[in-house]
Amino acid sequence: MSFKDSKKHTTLCVVDVVGTERISPNIIRVTLGGDQLQQLPNHGFDHWFRLFLPQEQGETSFDLPNRIDTIGYLKYLRMPSATRPHLRNYTVREFRPQARELDIDFVVHGDEGIATRWVQRTKQGDTVALLDQGRGYDFEPDTTYHLLAGDETALPAIAGILRDLPRDATGLALIEIPDPADAQPVDAPTGVQLRWLARESPARPGATALAAVQAWTTDTPATVSAYFAGEQNLPTTARRHLVDAGVPKRRITFTGYWKLGRSH
Ligand SMILES: Cc1cc2nc3c(=O)[nH]c(=O)nc-3n(C[C@H](O)[C@H](O)[C@H](O)COP(=O)(O)OP(=O)(O)OC[C@H]3O[C@@H](n4cnc5c(N)ncnc54)[C@H](O)[C@@H]3O)c2cc1C
Repeated sequence: MSFKDSKKHTTLCVVDVVGTERISPNIIRVTLGGDQLQQLPNHGFDHWFRLFLPQEQGETSFDLPNRIDTIGYLKYLRMPSATRPHLRNYTVREFRPQARELDIDFVVHGDEGIATRWVQRTKQGDTVALLDQGRGYDFEPDTTYHLLAGDETALPAIAGILRDLPRDATGLALIEIPDPADAQPVDAPTGVQLRWLARESPARPGATALAAVQAWTTDTPATVSAYFAGEQNLPTTARRHLVDAGVPKRRITFTGYWKLGRSH
């Protein structure tokens, strides 16, 4: 399973907001709940999904395609704009299938953005929909070292990967956060070092984690697996560094979660 397989997943769940909590200076945790979560496969790791958010005013239709391939996306675009939900991408922070509850950690980044505005005003009982996209991190079974790096938007993904890696895994996880108080308790294998990197203000988001990746070297590039996510420049430049260090391209999972100055 990897980012390449995301279009194969077809579970669409219409759910309600159960609660919200600002868990740290820049992160609001939203708990979603509902019977339709019974159908959601639990992929673990960096399990992500398409999130359909309501219009700021008026009615929203959640009669959505259950696949975002070319045809599904066209169907979505053909919905009347007045009732079409907004579409963004998010990660499962924690899934509790028995309780039919799922947490999402939203980074709050001002009010320029539909999702960041929504999370600051949403309340219990609001409806959203999520479309399963599977997991992205696809590491080889012979991996001897995991290198994971991301900004605060990738915190849920890296925390999920650390939670679900084999307990004897070894490696290094680098998570850049805007404020030291955004660090969270994470269940990581004892052999994986987790470093929280407070962003050096006024650096570009991702630049601090990127510098740490660029300082990293290895004697065994052939058995490294890597995962890079966050503001576009971090994953793409980090990947180039690893390729130069001899890590085979197929062993590097990388994806731009967002792009500075550009709406989704
Ligand atoms: C697979 C995947 C999983 C993701 N998981 C998560 C997750 O669990 N939690 C999470 O918070 N995000 C996550 N993201 C990132 C999230 O989808 C983007 O940050 C998204 O752009 C937010 O939408 P918006 O409507 O708030 O802003 P947009 O309308 O997309 O953008 C508006 C403006 O805000 C800027 N912007 C967007 N995001 C940020 C940011 N984080 N910090 C500063 N400026 C920003 C844009 O550059 C643009 O100028 C994920 C992305 C992907 C692809």
